[in-house]
Amino acid sequence: MKWEKLSAIRLIEELKSGSITSEEISAYFLDKIKKVDRILNSFITLNEKAVEEAKKVDKNGRKGRLAGLPIAVKDNITTKGIRTTCASRILENYIPPYDAEVISRIKREGGIIIGKTNMDEFAMGSSGENSGFGPTKNPRDLNRVPGGSSSGSAAAIAAGLAPLALGSDTGGSIRAPASFTGIVGLKPTYGAVSRFGLIAYANSLEQIGPMGKNVLDTAYLYSIIYGEDEKDSTSLPSPPLSIERISDFEAKGVKVAVLTDLVSRVDEPVKKMFERGINYISEIGAEVNEVKLEGIDLALPAYYVIACSEASSNLARYDGVRFGVDCRTNLNWRDAYKEVRKLFGKEVKVRIMLGAYTLSAGFFEEYYVKAVKVRRRIRDGLKKLLKKYDYVAIPTMPVLPWRIGEKLDDPLYVYLSDALTVPANLAGVPAISLPIGLADGLPVGIQFIADEFEEEKLFGLAKRFEEKAGELEVVDL
Ligand code: GLN
Repeated sequence: MKWEKLSAIRLIEELKSGSITSEEISAYFLDKIKKVDRILNSFITLNEKAVEEAKKVDKNGRKGRLAGLPIAVKDNITTKGIRTTCASRILENYIPPYDAEVISRIKREGGIIIGKTNMDEFAMGSSGENSGFGPTKNPRDLNRVPGGSSSGSAAAIAAGLAPLALGSDTGGSIRAPASFTGIVGLKPTYGAVSRFGLIAYANSLEQIGPMGKNVLDTAYLYSIIYGEDEKDSTSLPSPPLSIERISDFEAKGVKVAVLTDLVSRVDEPVKKMFERGINYISEIGAEVNEVKLEGIDLALPAYYVIACSEASSNLARYDGVRFGVDCRTNLNWRDAYKEVRKLFGKEVKVRIMLGAYTLSAGFFEEYYVKAVKVRRRIRDGLKKLLKKYDYVAIPTMPVLPWRIGEKLDDPLYVYLSDALTVPANLAGVPAISLPIGLADGLPVGIQFIADEFEEEKLFGLAKRFEEKAGELEVVDL
């Protein structure tokens, strides 16, 4: 039986019915990872105790809503006793003493953490190439990037190495790789999912979110991780989410706004596929409206100023004393600090410096304060639009997945590829990416955005859309 071909929801049914045990399924996926991941490099660390933990879940009767299902976790989410590196050499040996809130919730429902997935170092990147543990490959074309920063989680799902995965999204890190690998990923409303245990890149923008092969699987994982948590002061209560209501969602008559100024700037193959997507939206009975949103082109520069400012402050803690590899031996403090900080990769260093600059006296007003004002404008604009329309629809990425290494000397190209994903983070609203289909054999994703805490409504439209567009098959490597 090729278990990776089944949906996660179906696998859970199989587990509950007893036609397969958690031990068997965990061993099956671990085995597949060991065989295939030499090519893909989607995992940094495997959970050596996964099978043992699965046995325990079996012994207790495969209880909980996950009933012993294996789940892959991005390596910036802390897992008690399992190395958590953020794909950085500075955290190469970091073993967290505690679980992130989302991990506790998964375990409570009988989920098995199968391993920690590769990513751009500290979630800084859009391609998966900025990892201190080597780039991840796109299972749909091994010469191309899988998108980032949740590169490993996306690649693992697309290649059938895990039925479900967690990612994090600061400016597109769930949606970009979902789009590039042809899977589904949700960036939740800011505050909907606890960030307790998410190693911070830019706190005011990021959320942990679910990734899956299809809409219902993704919604199912979301239903387990969302909800207020007193350990995260920015978390908020969400309305209840029902998989049944998502399945029965009625798309007839819902109003969708297409942001034409963003769409007009994407590459031709993406534009063509997006037009196909628009047709699907009409075919499911939704009303499509072309809309302009003033100032949306300022989202990207504002995002990078805010994200780098927060990063430079967040990453100060890696001093080799409190966190990070200990380099103190035989060195004075200044030299030891220098030694430790050398372990950051190039992109991380660039962003720390950019952030230090935008926060420094004299430039603070000119950059940071201005960016925060732009953010407010974008949030107000999007919120206003979402009063009039139920959804915003745009492509997820403006380009097709590029070749690995091809853009290493063109960082601006890579930054610009976030232009369509960062608005949702700046505004704090939820956004989902799912496949429209393949262009020249490469996946193209569509993005739906809704108002705060409207995840159920977002999944509902996505579900109807998926029935038209079809799911992309898991790749056999
Ligand atoms: N590509 C964006 C960045 O590099 C977004 C990353 C993310 O969402 N973590 O900042």
